[in-house]
Amino acid sequence: MGYVVKAPPIVGVPVHGTSDLFPVRRIFCVGRNYAAHAREMGHDPDREPPFFFSKPADAIVICADPRNPTRIPYPPATRNLHHEMELVVAMKSGGAEIPVDKALEHVFGYGVGLDMTRRDLQNQAKDMGRPWDMGKGFDQSAPIGEIYPVAQVGHPAKGTIQLDVNGKTRQKSDLGALIWSVPETISYLSGLVTLAAGDLIYSGTPDGVAAVIKGDTLSGFVDGCGTVSCTYI
Ligand code: MN
Repeated sequence: MGYVVKAPPIVGVPVHGTSDLFPVRRIFCVGRNYAAHAREMGHDPDREPPFFFSKPADAIVICADPRNPTRIPYPPATRNLHHEMELVVAMKSGGAEIPVDKALEHVFGYGVGLDMTRRDLQNQAKDMGRPWDMGKGFDQSAPIGEIYPVAQVGHPAKGTIQLDVNGKTRQKSDLGALIWSVPETISYLSGLVTLAAGDLIYSGTPDGVAAVIKGDTLSGFVDGCGTVSCTYI
């Protein structure tokens, strides 16, 4: 039996130091996972339970070459596109109700990504009690660099996370400032959905989110986890 229309391709993210790809199944994102960012968005960061939203797998854009930033069209329907620089966790296995002390056994590796956000549409959705999908899960809303296997980088719990725009630093923090650590996030999320190989988790952004305009070049890194670089055209 065949498919009645052309089957969509599997989205793949390059794995550092190999010619292999990490196959993307789903993209989960954590909201407000750095206290300073929660405050800048008008919320009290005192260990509210983590919350999650999703992007479609094909929102991924590979942006792994800092010498040649990937050119991304400025998205439609927004006048306030924001950058959110994030550590990305790539799952090699999963399950439901994963205990915190077993969570890291399910991680294939780590990378860096941008949770690009049409802030005006997201804020309108918040005001009206509507879903965030069109503010968060639009086309090409998930730029990402390479995935670094755990064998190469271990499980980074500290280290600089930084985003520069046109050479000026906009976001800078440390992974140690995550409100919910990676294992806590995996454990919590696995109580809501059954995680599986191929899932990516964008772990939340530090403070300093701001608008991107056409012509801006975004260049971010997390210590040991590579870079993400793109230019909006
Ligand atoms: Mn985010």
